[in-house]
Amino acid sequence: MSELTCEQLVELVTDYLEEALTPEARRRFERHTALCPGCDVYLDQIRITIAELGRLTPERVAPDARDRLLAAFRGWAAETR
Ligand SMILES: [Zn+2]
Repeated sequence: MSELTCEQLVELVTDYLEEALTPEARRRFERHTALCPGCDVYLDQIRITIAELGRLTPERVAPDARDRLLAAFRGWAAETR
């Protein structure tokens, strides 16, 4: 079983929050967020947004948060080179 990539995690975040993942997929998701600060923050942002809206509409909020996440990844990549 390979590790999730950040892109895969972003695709799974809705299913994760709806508790629609299999137990194995959920473990892989949580292992990734534990090891990846960017995805951990992304998950928090989605959770906060859902709490503010009072309902689960990540398809509306995800593109903006995803852009910020990818911008953050690019920033870190630049710093480590
Ligand atoms: Zn990640």
